[in-house]
Amino acid sequence: MSLLNDPVTTLKGVGPKMAENLSKIGIEKVQDLLFHLPLRYQDRTRIYPIGSTQHGQEVMIQGEVEHSEIVYRRRRMMICTISDGTGSITLRFFHFSNSQQQALSRGTKISCFGEVRLGTNTREMVHPEYKILKSDNIITLTEALTPIYPTTKGLQQRSLLRLVGEAIAAINNTEGLTDLIPDQVSQQYQLSSLQQALLILHQPSSELSVVQLLERTHPSQQRLIFEELLAHHLSLRKLREQQKQAAGIPLNFSNEYFSKLMNALPFELTNAQQKVIKEIDFDLKQAWPMSRLVQGDVGSGKTLVAAAAALSAIEAGYQVVLMAPTEILAEQHTKSFSEWFEPLNLKVTMLSGKQKAAPKREALENISTGSSHLIIGTHALFQNDVHFQKLGLIIIDEQHRFGVHQRLALREKGKQADFYPHQLVMTATPIPRTLAMTTYADMDYSVIDELPPGRTPVKTVVISNTRRPEIVERINSVCEDGAQVYWVCTLIEESEALQCQNAEETWELLKEALPDLNIGLIHGRMKSDEKEQIMAEFKAEKINLLVATTVIEVGVDVPNASLMIIENAERLGLAQLHQLRGRVGRGSRSSSCVLMYQSPLSQNGKRRLEALRNSNDGFEIAKIDLEIRGPGEVFGTRQTGELQFRIADLMEDQHLLPNVQQAAQMILEQYPDNVEPLINRWIKHADDYAAV
Ligand code: ADP
Ligand code: MG
Repeated sequence: MSLLNDPVTTLKGVGPKMAENLSKIGIEKVQDLLFHLPLRYQDRTRIYPIGSTQHGQEVMIQGEVEHSEIVYRRRRMMICTISDGTGSITLRFFHFSNSQQQALSRGTKISCFGEVRLGTNTREMVHPEYKILKSDNIITLTEALTPIYPTTKGLQQRSLLRLVGEAIAAINNTEGLTDLIPDQVSQQYQLSSLQQALLILHQPSSELSVVQLLERTHPSQQRLIFEELLAHHLSLRKLREQQKQAAGIPLNFSNEYFSKLMNALPFELTNAQQKVIKEIDFDLKQAWPMSRLVQGDVGSGKTLVAAAAALSAIEAGYQVVLMAPTEILAEQHTKSFSEWFEPLNLKVTMLSGKQKAAPKREALENISTGSSHLIIGTHALFQNDVHFQKLGLIIIDEQHRFGVHQRLALREKGKQADFYPHQLVMTATPIPRTLAMTTYADMDYSVIDELPPGRTPVKTVVISNTRRPEIVERINSVCEDGAQVYWVCTLIEESEALQCQNAEETWELLKEALPDLNIGLIHGRMKSDEKEQIMAEFKAEKINLLVATTVIEVGVDVPNASLMIIENAERLGLAQLHQLRGRVGRGSRSSSCVLMYQSPLSQNGKRRLEALRNSNDGFEIAKIDLEIRGPGEVFGTRQTGELQFRIADLMEDQHLLPNVQQAAQMILEQYPDNVEPLINRWIKHADDYAAV
């Protein structure tokens, strides 16, 4: 019998391997399972009449095979028509065995679960889950909606579902779950009970609609969102308090290196860049550690601001570390910073998680002896064998991709004696000022509110994927002019493998359609040297067209690329689309972005894509996104992967922040004993930064 505070290993079937996987997603104690909230839900509680199913709906259907055959379109596939009297639907399989094919013969009764896609005259499901019904109608329906949890490789939904069930049972083994929000606060903000909220979200009855849950308007969701925001806010308040007490390293420099760099560059700083660099330089000279967030729209020139800060610290005799969210971006930064710094006789070193032993040893040695001035990398920078000789400044690029704890862990790592290095955090995520001040309460804030001159705004068009052939033609003509093109595949699935497979398929198709072009492929599952090679070739203009997953979303800078096509654009959040679009329009060529959608497009979907077409301003777009977000659309912004928040979403839930702030104040003053447990319940690795 497990108790809520016991480690997960006390649960049946949780061995060391599973415990390790669970801990990757922040689950260590039984109680943590309760706070591991579903990303979305599937409705397996009922069977839908085929004729009434709608595009994008994930449903269970049942019917009889009318027809089944293998066809050769662009590739070999099995198609199979099912009907139930109300309508018919085509199932499409790209991978199938002979026995599967034989089993799906005419007259066979089956049930299927999958996402419905509506074509012009057809309904279909691609690779649905299915089950052959031997005797009449034995379909296993569930009583509750099926939650889909965020997970990690090697950890199956089934296991999570079972473990959460046991955690729920464990509530009764104890006195119940402690509600850490005092009654006074719950009453004031009309929050429902914690225990009930958790039960509803993990085992929602079939009466709740999947759509309502996706909208996150259910009181149970609101309650947990509130508590999570509160926990984050409290932890930041605490952190800021502690940081104010910490000792920093006052840096002594006169911008000599940076002036030299600017003399070598063909352009001048924008006023906004100058202003932000001044703010940073001021901080760097203080005796307390800088903690500054720099926000600037895509293409506003944040990299150069980072370079200025880095050169100041290096001039003062310190090392600088720059952390990027993806290998691709780290590699790109290594290239540009090397070009800028090497003429100044400064050494730039990249540290990658996938580096071979010998170069890695060399890199580590250069870091620890201090012969490297700037160290660039991804999460690999957290490894324990990395020792800095004299670290003065930490720069984190595209902060929205990192959790607070990663930022703090790095800061902790740079601590020397009792001194903390300065920290500069850069993000393109448009955060309204009030929001920034609440949710980044531990940092100061600067904005680069101006783009470099001479940029032609990216022309954005929204078109249906039925016009794909025209787009393919367009690629040809753009490449004939010597420009380059991105094709972004956006399949959203739990599994990265499927995303990559989808990109591979698109790549194959485009190679057939555009035989004269050199077409590259890049996705998250490729080895890092492969990725590096592809990006290098694209940069060197050897590749005309680059097919990519959203791995290229942040930071990638290839000014000669002037056309971007985003497939199934309706599936992504506006902010993410804006980021992606920022990969073009970085040079002097006039650029376009094609947002291709799968018809039919919902009203909201249409408004969202139009908003993007009509504006190139990240702040504006973020505002519109908030205004018109509607049922089913929310999903696009909740990416799996970084688990910064379990349920809350800063942009969407910002209306709660004023109340969260007040509640935090009340708890700090009147219930200080609840602060620590609240933080620990929601934020993993909270201990790491309690020490800061
Ligand atoms: P982001 O803010 O999205 O990180 P980058 O730093 O990658 O933007 O800059 C985008 C492009 O603009 C780069 O090619 C960079 O060299 C260029 N750039 C940066 N600052 C200026 C400037 N002041 N004038 C002209 N071009 C600039
Ligand atoms: Mg950048």
